[in-house]
Amino acid sequence: MKFSQFFMPTLKETPADAEVISHQLMLRAGYIRKLATGIFSWLPMGLKVLQKVESIVRQEMNRAGALEVLLPGVQPAEIWESSGRWTFYGKELLRFQDRHNHNYCLGPTHEEVITDIARREIRSYRDMPVNLYQIQNKFRDEVRPRFGIMRAREFLMKDAYSFDVNDDASAKSYWNMHAAYSRIFTRLGLKFKVVEADSGAIGGSFSHEFMVLAKSGEDLIASCPACDYAANVEKASFQAPPMPSFNPQLLKEINKLSTPGIRTIEELASFLNKPASAFAKTLIYLADGKPLAAMVRGDRELNEIKLKNLLNAADLVLAAPNAIFELTGAPQGFSGPLNLAMPVYVDSELASMPFLIVGGNAKDLHLEGFNITRDLPQATVASLRLVAEGDSCPKCGRVFTFARGIEVGHIFRLGTKYSAAMGAEYLNQEGESKPMVMGCYGIGVSRIVAAAIEQGNDENGIILPPAIAPFTIVVMPMSLEGKPFDTALDIYERLLAQGVEAAFDDRDLRPGNKFKDSELVGIPYRLVVGAKGLEKNQVELKDRARGETIWLSLDSAFEHILGLLKI
Ligand code: ATP
Ligand code: MG
Repeated sequence: MKFSQFFMPTLKETPADAEVISHQLMLRAGYIRKLATGIFSWLPMGLKVLQKVESIVRQEMNRAGALEVLLPGVQPAEIWESSGRWTFYGKELLRFQDRHNHNYCLGPTHEEVITDIARREIRSYRDMPVNLYQIQNKFRDEVRPRFGIMRAREFLMKDAYSFDVNDDASAKSYWNMHAAYSRIFTRLGLKFKVVEADSGAIGGSFSHEFMVLAKSGEDLIASCPACDYAANVEKASFQAPPMPSFNPQLLKEINKLSTPGIRTIEELASFLNKPASAFAKTLIYLADGKPLAAMVRGDRELNEIKLKNLLNAADLVLAAPNAIFELTGAPQGFSGPLNLAMPVYVDSELASMPFLIVGGNAKDLHLEGFNITRDLPQATVASLRLVAEGDSCPKCGRVFTFARGIEVGHIFRLGTKYSAAMGAEYLNQEGESKPMVMGCYGIGVSRIVAAAIEQGNDENGIILPPAIAPFTIVVMPMSLEGKPFDTALDIYERLLAQGVEAAFDDRDLRPGNKFKDSELVGIPYRLVVGAKGLEKNQVELKDRARGETIWLSLDSAFEHILGLLKI
């Protein structure tokens, strides 16, 4: 590719509305442009990277025996009604009507479509196992689209679905995908970790996430330094540090505390000069519109996924301040468990504490001496909090370490959730009708590009593993005529002939600007051909990732580069 004929609108300035480095660099490098919130166009340089990722994903899926299909992006409401998800999926599903007032949605995932195909086309145990996949744009009306294409509303996903005769066969398909994913992320050249995960709205019983490790990752991973247990904190089971055993003699009377103007646990802790762990937070939620209270220790975070799973709710949101006032009689910050006209869910850790300070459901009022067993016998006690520093591995008891990650792949065992709901059955060897056993497997193809950039960048721009860089090498003549130009063009053409993805920077720009661009867009090697070097029969090769420059003799340069690129 000659850059004089290429479209690469690079930017010098960092765009103001881009928070994370990958989003900033993808805009600056002319990879993407925003069309609307969470909706992006891919420009030629970015598309090259995206297509390389896509191609590795496709190759490994094919190698694992999956078969590519292409399903429609627009899906009729009927199939979502038959799986029960038309109501359950919530607001991420973008719904609309056609001119005949029929309901449709833009596909956020394709279990329904694929199960519809399976129930029509797969008849017998002989037709399985089968694993069908596609690489296609999805649409999810995310609550908070952000970080550019990392959490977009429209994004490219690889989704695969396996159909098997029973659980054992389905487990085999699952581990086959697990292995294929590990190969994919290894080939992409990324540092990643496989963790146990929550199955979310997709449903099912069992799942793993593939995380690209990066400080900016939205997900927190708890991993055991001793055994192989690693889990998303949303999912992590843990052993809590031991609690002192309950001593009834420690029980206290409930006392009123005047706490004027105090709203947060931090303010309360400093006002009363007590650690945050002496308090219980009472959070008011609406689960599918119905109010409930959930309590965790003051220094803990509630795990909304645990609570949502416990309630089996489709939608769980914190109540707004005015709703809190109506429901508890007090402004936000003073909610407490006593005399609440709603169910109360209590984290197990609180249940063993002899006394707590809680909100008093009146302005400027808290209560001390509160005991869950004595004062709230009707409460549901369950593990509701997130894993935290100091908790340890459920398998071997070693204290967890924590790291951040970006979820780039997610695999699930679905069992018969969709096949049973939608009537996808087959005839087994005995001639009996049975539901097919399913698995589903997603990869965020576009998110991988951002994740790779989060892992690889410096002050000059993007650093990508050669497997997914837009070009492998850029050949740059220092002048647009004469010997440097002719020599550079010759090397460039010979590289192309060897199948190297080479670019030729023949733009009429100052060399400094060209250097900057090649670093910004993440091309791993740059070969500069200049008059001075040629006097000594030399050309200059720069390695983007290492930042090293070496001089090569003109005669050996070509072979040296092929050797570096292992061609
Ligand atoms: P998340 O927890 O990040 O919302 P998810 O669990 O909803 O992800 P899946 O339904 O498993 O995601 O989708 C498969 C893959 O698609 C994810 O692993 C992720 O890499 C990617 N993905 C999901 N949502 C988005 C999005 N809004 N933008 C870009 N990629 C996404
Ligand atoms: Mg999601």
